[in-house]
Amino acid sequence: MAETSALLCPLCDCEVMLDGDEKIGDQIYCAYCEAPLKLAKTKDDRLYLVEDF
Ligand SMILES: [Zn+2]
Repeated sequence: MAETSALLCPLCDCEVMLDGDEKIGDQIYCAYCEAPLKLAKTKDDRLYLVEDF
């Protein structure tokens, strides 16, 4: 797992903190805009968040 502890919310651009044990496909709620997000990974192994409505 990449050593990412925070990712940007695609909706409000705030940092969403991660516990570090999330897996790809896990649903994570943005603490700021409360949008449901899904953890995804790019081809070069970087984590990012996508909207998951
Ligand atoms: Zn947000």
